[in-house]
Amino acid sequence: KILLAIESSCDETSVAVIEDGRKILSNIVASQVKSHQRFGGVVPEVASRHHVEEITMCIEDALVEAGIEPNGLSGVGVTYGPGLVGALLIGISAAKAFAWSHDLPLIPVNHMAGHIYAANFVEPLQFPLMALLVSGGHTELVYMKETGSFEIIGETRDDAAGEAYDKVGRVLGLSYPSGKEIDELAHLGQDTYHFPRAMLKEDNYDFSFSGLKSSFINTVHNAEQRDEQLSTKDLAASFQASVIDVLVDKTIRACQEYPIKQLVMAGGVAANRGLRDRLTEAVKKELPEVTFIVPPLRLCGDNAAMIGAAAFVEAEKGHFADYHLNADPSLSFMTI
Ligand code: ATP
Ligand code: MG
Ligand code: FE
Repeated sequence: KILLAIESSCDETSVAVIEDGRKILSNIVASQVKSHQRFGGVVPEVASRHHVEEITMCIEDALVEAGIEPNGLSGVGVTYGPGLVGALLIGISAAKAFAWSHDLPLIPVNHMAGHIYAANFVEPLQFPLMALLVSGGHTELVYMKETGSFEIIGETRDDAAGEAYDKVGRVLGLSYPSGKEIDELAHLGQDTYHFPRAMLKEDNYDFSFSGLKSSFINTVHNAEQRDEQLSTKDLAASFQASVIDVLVDKTIRACQEYPIKQLVMAGGVAANRGLRDRLTEAVKKELPEVTFIVPPLRLCGDNAAMIGAAAFVEAEKGHFADYHLNADPSLSFMTI
């Protein structure tokens, strides 16, 4: 089964052709990051306009690179939420038009399920599994008893991890999005500031990153007022150590409580080198019977390949949409 997959929930326009949910025949990603950088974040209206300009070429390129004609496809998967409503609607409209003109079924995909299913390109998912979803808009622990079933057992009470990275990066004068650069700086510094590890000792799987963010910003502002010079590398290392400590500790605890075969880490922040290394180590030590899977870097950020992987699962279950499919900006796992 070969599917066309379309992703446009935020600031990348992406189209992929995926075979049986596991083989990437093509995965075109057009990033708009340069257009949003000067605003220090994604501007929804700008994102929508870029998607309109890019989407047709991305579909074209994805088909050419895969060497496939529309009549070789058996469906069109598309992200319908969560994300920016205007951005989602461009992808949905393109998917509907393509599906209609080639008489193909339309498969609705949850963007966050897509992030998890990106791991399928590394190794077939085996259930039950635990997923640590860490991205620009979400930070949650999701227990999957079986394929297509999602139970959020813990989540952030305020900022997402990626959001915290981007806000802290702004204070350091880094350009948006700053997760990758902070990760690189962190490897050159030391945890000298000992920022708080929020909710680390609490008996739940929730997270909080706004206290860490405030503490970081106060440290920087106080130093500025006193004309003190702070080490950017140490600030980055201290911030990252705090984020990683909490994410790793809670994830390991969740995996000890729930019976699982695999642990998946996914989402843009899963590209973080420090986090990948620390979680790999912790799983080896604490959960020797659990397989830890994390997608390659290019499949951690937003892309349509992961949407194609999730669409395959949805199609197998007979989950299709009609032409009334609408964007659902705050789609959560409950509605799947
Ligand atoms: P969501 O998936 O929740 O809807 P999103 O799609 O905007 O949000 P992603 O594209 O999955 O988010 O991830 C983008 C985020 O990942 C940004 O906040 C970015 O700073 C962060 N990020 C990317 N690389 C790294 C890294 N190496 N370390 C930390 N954060 C990173
Ligand atoms: Mg993005
Ligand atoms: Fe995402």
